[in-house]
Amino acid sequence: MVKFDPGSLFYLGFLGVPSAFGVGPEWPEVFMLFFLFGLWPLVAPLLAGGDRGRSARFLLSQVLFELLPWRLAASLAQLAGQLAPLVRYRGRFPDAESYEQSVRLTLPFEGSWTAVNGGVTRDTSHSWELLAQRYAYDFLRERDGATHEGDGADCADYHCFGEPVVAPAPGTVVRATDGIRDFPRPGTGWTEWRTWDIRGNHVVLDHGNGEYSLLAHLQEDSVCVSVGDEVERGERLGACGNSGNSTEPHIHYQLQDTPNFFLAAGLPPTFSDFERERDGDRERVAAGYVTAPATVAPRTRGDGPSAPSTEATRT
Ligand SMILES: [Zn+2]
Repeated sequence: MVKFDPGSLFYLGFLGVPSAFGVGPEWPEVFMLFFLFGLWPLVAPLLAGGDRGRSARFLLSQVLFELLPWRLAASLAQLAGQLAPLVRYRGRFPDAESYEQSVRLTLPFEGSWTAVNGGVTRDTSHSWELLAQRYAYDFLRERDGATHEGDGADCADYHCFGEPVVAPAPGTVVRATDGIRDFPRPGTGWTEWRTWDIRGNHVVLDHGNGEYSLLAHLQEDSVCVSVGDEVERGERLGACGNSGNSTEPHIHYQLQDTPNFFLAAGLPPTFSDFERERDGDRERVAAGYVTAPATVAPRTRGDGPSAPSTEATRT
């Protein structure tokens, strides 16, 4: 049996073409509406379930939402802002070979998390062309290979949702934004269309020496620090959420060279004292880059030299 394809109704549209050119009676012109079925291949994946539908919805939401004035403004600011680091570095951006990091960073969470995006090379990068996010990471939690329980239709189904997000190093809070909702349709491919801030709720920490940490997509009403606060390593900043431009709950982390997200260049972050899981084995990393996909966990207090008393490298 041949499966009916609504897209083929498109051809009925040609019945209206002669009347559109003034040939014969006018009424067949209405057949031209059938040309709309030509859009079917674009619409069908949106109605389909599974991964195909999800990626189509993600693409469509990105395209549609870019047309909203505030999203367009943010995107233009992001693109225009790239001029600042272009001028600052004259094309020679900080990279993993040459960058010497001053701050000692530890992972901005507790327990085992999975880096799903991010690395310090073009191939592994979160988004190489966006200078500010070139060395960004997306972290979430997995259990038995899944990021959520059940069908994942609710933010609360996600293992990382509401988990503490902590300071990766001592610093001064220079931005703390809260009050943006967690997008209530995670895992569907749709993303938040109302948001005026793609970062969602977020915190920026100044570590000194032109190094700033941005922690984004935090849970609504979870941000527990204010601008001007001095925080210690491991101090809670907020909780993992799904605010801003986020397809499912996760932490977006990036180290950048200015407090301003739009004018910043990303810096390749070296993390200290963590464990990396590979093929079921755990290896200890004294200091190194994280390359997604990887399951990583900060070494906990009393588990070696990561205890807060050894802030020797803080400058
Ligand atoms: Zn991200």
